Amino acid sequence: MHIVLDPDLCQAYGNCLLAAPDVFELTEATPVVIVRQANPGEDLRAEVEEAVRSCPVQALTLEHA
Ligand code: SF4
Repeated sequence: MHIVLDPDLCQAYGNCLLAAPDVFELTEATPVVIVRQANPGEDLRAEVEEAVRSCPVQALTLEHA
């Protein structure tokens, strides 16, 4: 699976980070979330799907390979 972030939509709410802390990262230095693992393993699928669902502005999309 592949995570696509739309940086124009992301408001750095951090919901995705709470759902999948190994995949996303927020720092004060960047205005949008950092996708640390754009192609996470299947073991992280549940967390990643929850992160995509929890984004209030639909900035995250999951592409299925
Ligand atoms: S939940 Fe959405 S808006 Fe918030 S940091 Fe993640 S991608 Fe950005």
